Amino acid sequence: MRVLVALGGNAILQRGQKGNAAEQRENVQKTVTQIVRMIRAGHEVVVTHGNGPQVGAILIQNELGSSSVPAMPMDVCGAESQGLIGYMFCQSFHNTLAAEGIHTHEPVCLVTQVQVDPSDPAFVHPTKPVGPFYTEEAAKKRMDATGETWIDDAGRGWRRVVPSPDPKSIVEKDVIKALLEKGFIVIASGGGGIPVIRNQDGTYQGVEAVIDKDLAGERLAAAVNADLLMILTDVPRVAIHYNSPNQKWLENVTVSEMEQLEKEGHFKAGSMGPKVRAAVRFVRNGGDRAVIASLEEALEALEGKAGTQIHKS
Ligand code: ADP
Ligand code: MG
Repeated sequence: MRVLVALGGNAILQRGQKGNAAEQRENVQKTVTQIVRMIRAGHEVVVTHGNGPQVGAILIQNELGSSSVPAMPMDVCGAESQGLIGYMFCQSFHNTLAAEGIHTHEPVCLVTQVQVDPSDPAFVHPTKPVGPFYTEEAAKKRMDATGETWIDDAGRGWRRVVPSPDPKSIVEKDVIKALLEKGFIVIASGGGGIPVIRNQDGTYQGVEAVIDKDLAGERLAAAVNADLLMILTDVPRVAIHYNSPNQKWLENVTVSEMEQLEKEGHFKAGSMGPKVRAAVRFVRNGGDRAVIASLEEALEALEGKAGTQIHKS
């Protein structure tokens, strides 16, 4: 099977950790061990991953260093985060595959742009908080100077919010397909990809926004004709009535049932919501099956024995 694996934040950084390089390498190593189980079972994998904490740290570094070296815009910071995380994954794949005596696969990380629509309503209503926290006074000064939008982030301080437009297509999809055909393990569209718009003259241009990695993962899965969209996170399954006394984990669900539950509001925006939307989209767009599962049960989820399985009918 060709499987698109979308990794959550926990695949790179655990809650409560500081985020130093050693911690991230250790987590990536554990994640790669799980993915190599799938490769050993004969499956072809394309990996995508989140980048929230990493790009957040890069934005803070840029901000604090800006009196000495120019700060980079968000699209460039996103590209940096893809390199940082992709490097860790590639090295970890090299080391793990060699240790297990697998010499048939080589990893490659691709800096990936994802096209968004400049008329996406998200550009009018930015919602996604990114980067450092400011005091109200400093945030207001910054808003006046730059035209950026800053909001009070749940009482934790003021934070910049940027648009989170819907991904339309993966710019490098043909390159990714060619690499897969050659047998490479491709790591692509990290952090949901670098958001770009296409101008009238055909040129691409980066924009100040972030794309949800699960929704971009679905676009990538569809583009490479993946048999399975696999979203790995820190819960074993999707639940209805999540975190309430009548919580119930879902095992096998049809895409129409999932759409109904979505309408009833069981899946939180910004966390489980986009995962469910991505899974539903994948199956509606012609995919066979999607699964949302925990990272530790990756191979079992692939085999239909763990996670929430979303079927065509
Ligand atoms: P990731 O980094 O993997 O994208 P998120 O934090 O964005 O992780 O999403 C996973 C989280 O979604 C879980 O840790 C859980 O707390 C939350 N969640 C919200 N609604 C649900 C639900 N209905 N079922 C399961 N988990 C849910
Ligand atoms: Mg998420």
